[in-house]
Amino acid sequence: MKGFVTLVGAGPGDPGLLTIKGKAALEQAEVVVYDRLVSPAILAMMPETAEKINVGKEASRHPVPQGEINRILLEKALEGKRVVRLKGGDPFVFGRGGEELELLAEHGVPFEEVPGITSAIAAAAYAGIPVTHRDFCSSLHIVTGHARAGKELSIDFEALVRTKGTLVFLMGVSAMPGIVRGLLAAGMDPETPAAMVERGTTPRQRRCSATLATLPERAAAMGIGSPAIILVGPVCALAEKFDWFSRLPLKGRAVVVTRPRDRAGTLSARLRALGADVLEYPCIETKPLVPCPAMTAALEDLSGYAWLVFTSPAGVAAFRDELRRMGKDARHLAGAKLAAIGPGTARALRDMGLMADFVPETYDAAHLAAGLPAEGKALLLRAEWGTPALTEGLKARNIPYEDIAVYETRYENPDAAALRQRLAAGEKLLVSFTSASTVEGFVSSLGEGADLTGVRGVCIGVQTAAAAKQHGIAVTVAEKATLDSLVAAIIKGA
Ligand code: SAH
Repeated sequence: MKGFVTLVGAGPGDPGLLTIKGKAALEQAEVVVYDRLVSPAILAMMPETAEKINVGKEASRHPVPQGEINRILLEKALEGKRVVRLKGGDPFVFGRGGEELELLAEHGVPFEEVPGITSAIAAAAYAGIPVTHRDFCSSLHIVTGHARAGKELSIDFEALVRTKGTLVFLMGVSAMPGIVRGLLAAGMDPETPAAMVERGTTPRQRRCSATLATLPERAAAMGIGSPAIILVGPVCALAEKFDWFSRLPLKGRAVVVTRPRDRAGTLSARLRALGADVLEYPCIETKPLVPCPAMTAALEDLSGYAWLVFTSPAGVAAFRDELRRMGKDARHLAGAKLAAIGPGTARALRDMGLMADFVPETYDAAHLAAGLPAEGKALLLRAEWGTPALTEGLKARNIPYEDIAVYETRYENPDAAALRQRLAAGEKLLVSFTSASTVEGFVSSLGEGADLTGVRGVCIGVQTAAAAKQHGIAVTVAEKATLDSLVAAIIKGA
């Protein structure tokens, strides 16, 4: 059986620049063969079950030779697998995509190519440089600055200068002074605007603007390194006016998102769009308690309860799964009313076809307890060690309740050691906290004695902030308990 190979362009860095078709291919992949320049957020889209093969250069190791990559692709395809070959930028723009297809074609393995956004155009765009502009040029030339081993650059500089077009050099960082000399010797005006864009489209993007003559000196002063593109042509002067990316409010700021992985997406994407260097650091993982005899018994006969109370989507999920296991559906709930702590929890109920009868105006446990209509016994289906604010509040109002733990939360993250080191090195981090449990999760995941002085906690509400302050974390609090408000607070805290 012959499998199928999809060559996918991952774009230049910003995960938002992966195409919809590329993402779909990645989500279907059984084997993913990827490169060094592909962003972690894109790698996170691979199915957990997919076999992942890194063929890029690691700090100490050499990259896998091209012939070997070609053979891996062939071998996996011949096993009948759906293979995705994920490459930085566009696979066919100095990406050796063509070479990788040769062997597959020879063996009659079916394949497709999903173009990507090339760094040659996108890194320029994110630095405010349109690679063409009617007033300045009428052609665009993408050139490799890489010399074959032991050889001189084989670039026809005279021909390039004659085009009067925009020149973009890839793989040219170390050869840059030679490229500049070549262009000058071929008669290009030393005053021609030029630029380099390092790590384009990523939060660590840097632009170096100069003239052709001053580029080597400026780039050296800034310490511009690979990966970077070199641009030469009058359009480079537009960067001063159009450099929108570097002006974003969170440009380059490290922001840690502590929500559970399945709920982090929207917040991360919004922060990235504001230029933030987002680290998704889910440090609480919720795990339903199965079996949960107390919940089974309570759900068996709901007639004694006036309200079912939910304080998180995880609680709703545990409840939904238990009902299913009991072979029951929504009709079983007739008569009981449903309370949700906030819109996220209400949405989780809605997803199972249930409308929340009560959501407090302020989304926290104290307000939930204070506002819940006193109509009889309340069944609380929530986390082990849930906040006492809820039960205290109900007690104060003489509302009877039964508090059942339906899931547990665990604190761990594989990136903890790395994060601890960054903090120890004095790095400033904005950390978004969406609940008191994310604070506890964050602190516990880092372990005893971690240095929290560099952390500014941006908290969704006062209870979350109180939890952070208890650990000595400086806080900024969102005005309202919504994502919009949280994002605004992150900008304020930056
Ligand atoms: N296929 C890729 C290019 C691969 S060659 C593409 O279409 O973008 C590798 C070169 O691409 C690097 O040496 C650098 O010049 C450029 N490059 C790749 N990613 C880049 C980025 N994020 N910013 C600037 N240059 C980048």
